[in-house]
Amino acid sequence: MKITVWGCRGSLPSPDPENFKYGGNTSCVQVMHGDTCIILDAGSGIQRLGKYLNPEIREIHILLSHLHIDHTMGLGFFLPLYNPNVAVHLYGPSATVEPLLHRLRRYFSAPLFPVRLNDLPRHPLIHELDDSTFEIGNVKIQSAFISHPGPTLGYRLTAGNSVLAYMPDHELQMGSSNFPNEPDWTSGYEIAKDADLLFHDGEYTADEYLTKIGWGHSSMEDAIAFGKLCRVKKLSLFHHDPMNSDKRLEKMYQDCTRNLSLDFEVELCCEGNAYEL
Ligand SMILES: [Zn+2]
Ligand SMILES: [Zn+2]
Repeated sequence: MKITVWGCRGSLPSPDPENFKYGGNTSCVQVMHGDTCIILDAGSGIQRLGKYLNPEIREIHILLSHLHIDHTMGLGFFLPLYNPNVAVHLYGPSATVEPLLHRLRRYFSAPLFPVRLNDLPRHPLIHELDDSTFEIGNVKIQSAFISHPGPTLGYRLTAGNSVLAYMPDHELQMGSSNFPNEPDWTSGYEIAKDADLLFHDGEYTADEYLTKIGWGHSSMEDAIAFGKLCRVKKLSLFHHDPMNSDKRLEKMYQDCTRNLSLDFEVELCCEGNAYEL
């Protein structure tokens, strides 16, 4: 799998010169496996991806972790949606209140957006997921509900022996009263276990988290504890707070990793990062 990060900022695009290194676009990760094109989330980063995507690609699979605006705001600006020769599949979590199609239509309607889903030259194909397993090309996908306000999925992508796990918004402390000591009761464990690369929410410091319990996000400390519990090879801290400059992110990272001896790699995710698994 060839993986490219087009956005790893949380909550709100933040194109500030002080955020230049880690980037200002919200969640979007591209995964290519041969001709198979999978996109994780449609945050503002998907707009640039659409501009640079290989025009030969005729089928695109967009896996939405959830429908918070920072993970969907780029959809209407994704050029392939306006190309009748490209089939776009949209996957997202099921919900008891409304079908996925109706929830997506809320974005593609007044007063939020001028183009309706039905106005697109080719209607996207909608796939509702819950705790599901399926294949796209030769990539095996596993989805599972994880703890975050509103229905939210974590994704596990397996190609050959390589595993990528994606959980940009995830509040680990809400999943278990005894985190991180009970793998079977830890939200997202099945998705991330033994992954080669895990993109995971690490928005706060441990102190900040205490004032934001229930907002749906994790501290860097908790993300690292989760990476250790899941025996991942590499953890990429994701969903950076829009208020945090490059300098502040690096200070947070240094403060929380200084006294740790870890047997896996931990990094701050950077927009533009590329990986090969
Ligand atoms: Zn988010
Ligand atoms: Zn969210």
